[in-house]
Amino acid sequence: MPLHTGDALVLRTYRLGESDRIVVLLTRDRGKKRGVARGGARSRKRFGGALEPFTHVRVAYQEREQRDLVRLDYADVLGSPLTAGGEACTYASYFAELLDEWAPENDPQERLYRLGVAVLEAMRSGVGAERLARYFEYWLLRLQGVYPSIRACPTCGAPLVGGAVLGPRSHWFLCRRCASHAEGVAMPAAALQFLAESAHVAPGALGDVTVPSEALVQLAAAHRLLLVWHLDREPKAARVLREINP
Ligand SMILES: [Zn+2]
Repeated sequence: MPLHTGDALVLRTYRLGESDRIVVLLTRDRGKKRGVARGGARSRKRFGGALEPFTHVRVAYQEREQRDLVRLDYADVLGSPLTAGGEACTYASYFAELLDEWAPENDPQERLYRLGVAVLEAMRSGVGAERLARYFEYWLLRLQGVYPSIRACPTCGAPLVGGAVLGPRSHWFLCRRCASHAEGVAMPAAALQFLAESAHVAPGALGDVTVPSEALVQLAAAHRLLLVWHLDREPKAARVLREINP
């Protein structure tokens, strides 16, 4: 049985029988893997806090012929969202759920992995969760090539300098003139500016980006529409977050 060691993000765990857990991991080099953590449900001694969603871990696991599940030997914590405290754990579950939705099985997705680790580190260093969440959603959709243009209106080609509107059915940012008769989510210029800056800064530097909270609220509404559109449903953790921050 080949033994692999490497770094990974924990995406999700669930119980397997009385004492074991299934752990879904996004490994840096080998994509998404499902593993069995023997004793992971009963004893916290063996895996400690390493199985919480969005924990950055160093793992060793064995692949078994003809089986989809690998066997997790150990998981050591490199970075935990638990130390960020407060609402961070709920956001951590949300980020982990989105990565789980988008990462295909056994297909290396190093950029997704790096996005997750960088956002976790930013969270641990105290960057605000709301701006991190908008950044994360933006990059997640961008890496899949489905984030709408923030530069120009797709209908008339006008630059989106004064803000835009996310059309309820088009899933593009339209200029205010083209969207004048449509409903949709208003995107203030400051929201588009935040996205333009997010394209260039690491998440750890987001604390220095000036963005009014109203712009983040509008971005949250726009991203919710885009995510539901692409996932066909609202992420479970997003509903929990809305109950915390209505
Ligand atoms: Zn237009």
